[in-house]
Amino acid sequence: MEIHSIAHHFLTGWANFWRSVITPGWGNFFWLLVTVSLLVHVAELVRPWRREQPVLRRELGLDIFYMFFNMFLFPLLGYATLSAFFASHVESLGLVQKLRGSISLTALPAFVQLATLFLIRDFLQWNIHRVLHIVPALWKIHEVHHSAETMSYPVHLRYHWAENIIYRVPEYSIFLLIGSNLIDVFLIYVVSLSIGHLNHANLKLPWGFLKYLFNTSELHLWHHAKQNPRGYGVNFAITLSLWDWLFGTAHDPAEQPAEIGISGEPLFPDSVAGQLVWPWLKRRR
Ligand SMILES: [Zn+2]
Ligand SMILES: [Zn+2]
Repeated sequence: MEIHSIAHHFLTGWANFWRSVITPGWGNFFWLLVTVSLLVHVAELVRPWRREQPVLRRELGLDIFYMFFNMFLFPLLGYATLSAFFASHVESLGLVQKLRGSISLTALPAFVQLATLFLIRDFLQWNIHRVLHIVPALWKIHEVHHSAETMSYPVHLRYHWAENIIYRVPEYSIFLLIGSNLIDVFLIYVVSLSIGHLNHANLKLPWGFLKYLFNTSELHLWHHAKQNPRGYGVNFAITLSLWDWLFGTAHDPAEQPAEIGISGEPLFPDSVAGQLVWPWLKRRR
């Protein structure tokens, strides 16, 4: 990828984004995000789980900013172009083709390919999420997500920009290695977006035994508890709760946690600018 094609990729990214904003449709991630958000928003208005929680939360503006910043602005500011640049260099080494030849899923039926890719990606994310809680320097980054003091669907995409890199680099590598098509990747994102919105929402859905498979708002509320119930945390599920039940990190009592948020951080900033640099600020004791 030469300099002029890097510039071309960057500008095409902005042009494609603008085209998706002005042409609403189902195959377009911008309008999909808006539609899923509106549906969950209406559901929260009609049947809220915690009735005392205000609809116009103090953090709503900040969370909506993060939602569009992380989904669209951060990739458009150069991250998508940089990823494409590295991907094209890695592809040109030939190593990827060799590895892909030995682990490719393309010989499997389409549905099995999709399900396998989904499971591998989700298990990878569950592990990355645990590492974010275990390593102190990474926890500082992940604290932005946990700093929300009330839970509602926009908190799903409230996270520090560095998490885009921490999660996406291994994820893109898997997509590149195993081989994936755009429709599969789009479907995986649609399912993850919807379940992520629902498990952060102020909604209690009748999941029944499906709570052993999918992450629910009851489980994820405990993940955000201010007083951590045990160890380095509980319920690390992103989309599938299955991993927490299998590996002993599930926590599912009947009651709700007393408080949501982070503890022991009196200097945690309220502003976006403060939060973007928070992990690397020198802290006064
Ligand atoms: Zn977490
Ligand atoms: Zn969360």
